[in-house]
Amino acid sequence: MRRQMVAGNWKMHGSRAANQALLAELEMSLKAEWPIDIVVFPPYVYLGDAVRMLEDGRIAVGAQDVCAESGGAFTGQVSAHMLKDVGCSFCLVGHSERRRWYHEEDALVARKFAAALEAGLTPVLCVGETLDEREAKQTEAVIARQLDAVIATHGVGGFARAILAYEPVWAIGTGRTASPEQAQAVHSFLRDRIHLQDAKIARHLRILYGGSVKAGNAAELFSMPDVDGGLVGGASLSAEEFQQICAAAAVRH
Ligand code: PEP
Repeated sequence: MRRQMVAGNWKMHGSRAANQALLAELEMSLKAEWPIDIVVFPPYVYLGDAVRMLEDGRIAVGAQDVCAESGGAFTGQVSAHMLKDVGCSFCLVGHSERRRWYHEEDALVARKFAAALEAGLTPVLCVGETLDEREAKQTEAVIARQLDAVIATHGVGGFARAILAYEPVWAIGTGRTASPEQAQAVHSFLRDRIHLQDAKIARHLRILYGGSVKAGNAAELFSMPDVDGGLVGGASLSAEEFQQICAAAAVRH
């Protein structure tokens, strides 16, 4: 059985004091004995604080993005090696907000995925369709394209050390969640696609669902056989709600 994971994407929210308070609350409320993996993704500038405050290792720390280049004259960017150096173990790649607002295309996302792996980080590759694409029945074509761009560039092998996250764009920050059956259908499609290339990697790959996961809907989403936890945005900004989501994941392990 795959171990469930709950990841909190804090996006560009909070202040140093607010995020430290949130970390302190999380540290106290998340139970060490829960058989799940927990990761938080604070804004870049607070990563150092998070690593220091979470040094017992119960909660891992990740970055919300990474530069595809390994170093050099790339003003404003942060490399995968730098993230590793400050104590991160994960990074998101291809989040729909990066694809939409910063025009990140599949080829760049694939290079970021490779940069993360090369530095020893675990990339969390985000894929998902817009509402228009879903209504035009293009969901599978879109997520296959996003996934295949990474496989085509680097082979399927990288997924032995990566996480996949299905995040329908129409469900992110909208309060509109995919039904458990909709999520399961896409997760199973993704796993089958990996299975075509490598059955063992497909069996072990964790596929998280993201898009308005909350305490009230986490248990039914996580009960689906191919949903291995959640990538949580808004609800991860409340320690109490995040803790309840983690508790729901801990029940199905
Ligand atoms: C996200 O930011 O990845 C996300 C899923 O956000 P929310 O839970 O707020 O929809």
